[in-house]
Amino acid sequence: ARERAARAAAEAAEARYRGLFNGVADAITVIGADGRYVDANPAAEALFGYTRDELRGQRVGLLSQATAGDPEQVWPSFQTRMERGDVRGEYELARKDGTPIAVEASVTRATLPGFGDVYVVMSRDISERRALERMQREFMAMITHELKAPLTSMRGYAQLMQRRGAYLERGVSAILDQTYLLERLVNDMLDAARAGSGHLELRRGPVELAALARDCVEQARTSAPERAMRLATPEAPIYGNWDRDRLGQVVNNQLTNALKYSPDTSVIEVEVDRDPAEATFAVRDYGVGIATDAQGRLFQRFFRVEGSYSGAPGLGLGLYIAKSLVEAHDGRIWVESEPGAGSTFRFTLPIGDTEIAGA
Ligand code: ADP
Repeated sequence: ARERAARAAAEAAEARYRGLFNGVADAITVIGADGRYVDANPAAEALFGYTRDELRGQRVGLLSQATAGDPEQVWPSFQTRMERGDVRGEYELARKDGTPIAVEASVTRATLPGFGDVYVVMSRDISERRALERMQREFMAMITHELKAPLTSMRGYAQLMQRRGAYLERGVSAILDQTYLLERLVNDMLDAARAGSGHLELRRGPVELAALARDCVEQARTSAPERAMRLATPEAPIYGNWDRDRLGQVVNNQLTNALKYSPDTSVIEVEVDRDPAEATFAVRDYGVGIATDAQGRLFQRFFRVEGSYSGAPGLGLGLYIAKSLVEAHDGRIWVESEPGAGSTFRFTLPIGDTEIAGA
């Protein structure tokens, strides 16, 4: 009876281990005393692209073979690190399909039912964190540049006036222009910080979308009078309970981008429409377009398409803020684009119960 109880206890332990092993979100691989994989949980299968059966019996060098140089050396250096108590680190690995992946891994020694003495490796995907860190570094470089240029210009004009002891109309308006630019930068940074902490508040009220579109296009025309812009709106007004200033900000971001990233001779088309459930807003340009792999990342904080910095100023915050604002309205925002042919940015706003009939 005691033996049966012991067996039951062992089985219960095994079941508990299995349940934990299969259920945790972290990828776990188990390495036997011979340096070969003996087990992997579903999270590890998802992370590395190998099934448990494919991993079992393979040497630990498998995941790092693309990055570690000599795969023969992976196991000895693994053991050396363990002896030093060096159980946590960041590693560049490769998935089964060859794509690189950065993980933070920590290792514990354990004695597991059925496997004996093993190393249990917990790995967490840090690719996204790495990408964010890289973007933040680039952001610091950009912000330094974006702040310096207007400061230099303002100081130049101020010094000029000081030297001459005279008021210069041109100098004062240049200085004012630069202060507007700096103000926009600061506001963008504030908005991005608020969006990041979920504190973008809306001041809702009755808004008519076609009128908003007309105002925004008018404003864009004054800043780029030479550009051709077409506006298409339906006959009936589109009312909703929205934040007019914030929606204006979204539209201005899209218009400014359309102007920035398309040739001066090309037209920009703005279209407002609705169906029973939602209003749609589209801004189309016939400019440089956006590579497919960048399209999904455009709306991330700090993201700018490689190389676009040299041409047009910006911090890569506009679309991030736009997305946060549209989503705060329970809408969606996305881009359709073909490199070289142009881009269409669209967003939707639910009308639903919030509609103010004929208001
Ligand atoms: P930025 O201030 O850098 O323009 P945004 O968040 O508004 O910031 O845009 C992010 C990036 O998306 C831009 O740097 C640019 O590379 C790309 N982008 C945005 N709009 C367009 C467009 N209409 N055509 C091509 N690229 C665009």
